[in-house]
Amino acid sequence: MTDDGRTRLEFSPPFLGEEEIAEVTEALRSGWISLGPRTRQFEAAFAEYLGAPAALGLSSCTAGLHLALIVLKIGPGDEVIVPTMTFCSTANAVEHVGAKPVLVDVEADTLNIDPEAVENAITERTKAIMVVHYGGHPADLNTLQAIADRHGLAVVEDAAHALPARYEGRTVGATPNLTSFSFYATKNLTTGEGGMLTGDPALVDRARPLSLHGIQTGAWDRHSKGGTWYYEVVAPGYKYNMTDLEAALGMCQLKKLDGMQARRREIVDLYREGFGGVEGLELPVARHGVEPAWHLFPIRVRPDVLGIDRDQFVHGLTEQGIGTSVHFIPLHVQPYYQEKYGLTTEDFSVAHDAFERLVTIPLHPGLSDEDCERIVDAIRKVICAGN
Ligand SMILES: *Cc1c(COP(=O)(O)O)cnc(C)c1O
Repeated sequence: MTDDGRTRLEFSPPFLGEEEIAEVTEALRSGWISLGPRTRQFEAAFAEYLGAPAALGLSSCTAGLHLALIVLKIGPGDEVIVPTMTFCSTANAVEHVGAKPVLVDVEADTLNIDPEAVENAITERTKAIMVVHYGGHPADLNTLQAIADRHGLAVVEDAAHALPARYEGRTVGATPNLTSFSFYATKNLTTGEGGMLTGDPALVDRARPLSLHGIQTGAWDRHSKGGTWYYEVVAPGYKYNMTDLEAALGMCQLKKLDGMQARRREIVDLYREGFGGVEGLELPVARHGVEPAWHLFPIRVRPDVLGIDRDQFVHGLTEQGIGTSVHFIPLHVQPYYQEKYGLTTEDFSVAHDAFERLVTIPLHPGLSDEDCERIVDAIRKVICAGN
């Protein structure tokens, strides 16, 4: 509750209903709660929804990024180009395989990885480009792919925000690029924790045993009727599998996804209307030929126009019971990366300028028109206070 008795509008609560509760209950009653038939069903449904060549259910998007780099045989001595404007796990996955994440700046309008910066960062050690679809707006994939092809590099997509996003008539995740989705609690589709790796079937098949201890056949296949106790360990794999409880949630959320996306788009329209003519707020863009997943609605405030900075803006909204966040604290200012690679803010001028002015306001299908109005009014009030 706020001082005036109104409920707080959280930044990004999960959108769950009785359907999810029923599905998970059924999974619980089935007696099989770990990796099993529901996970395989969810993988198939997810792949079909995207038009993906193959899909592997995982415990997280981070697990998918890690496995992607492993099956691409990226390791010590290799470099992977990563945008600075992302969540830490994009670069952490590169560290996990012993390779070097080479951070680069982003484009000013979308805050996606800048193809020119990528081109300038390529060395003979470069093996892959890690592409993040910031906020759900697809990166400039055609240009990035052309650069990758010219230099013989892999493209790995961090699609944590990009379900479902479309780029030049195709769905993000529908190409052979290894692409990792997140079903974390705040994401467009949630299973609490979880992720999905899509892409080239041969590569996804290589990742599959690695997601379960390096065991060639899954536990369900082994123990199901007619199965056998025998299994083979073909690699020192990881414990990265999805569970059937998560998959039950995922199946239910996938059925609701188009409806949830339609609501996200309506809210974006309400915000665009609500902030029309307001000077001093830079709203997120949608480039031609692109349909963003609208995971986030990141605004950049202009202190020179508004007379208040981002922190004052956030404070004003918090006081009115509006939850916000900042996406992201760029990796070049995170102590581990900054110190290890001696990074300076001048090399990331676009991301750095954006970071200092960024604030993400609530955008999720549970927001009513009245909630959106309240958010717009609250922001207008904070802005007026600055002038
Ligand atoms: C949420 C997020 C991740 C991590 O997802 P998990 O499923 O929690 O591992 C990775 N990258 C980006 C850009 C994210 O927002």
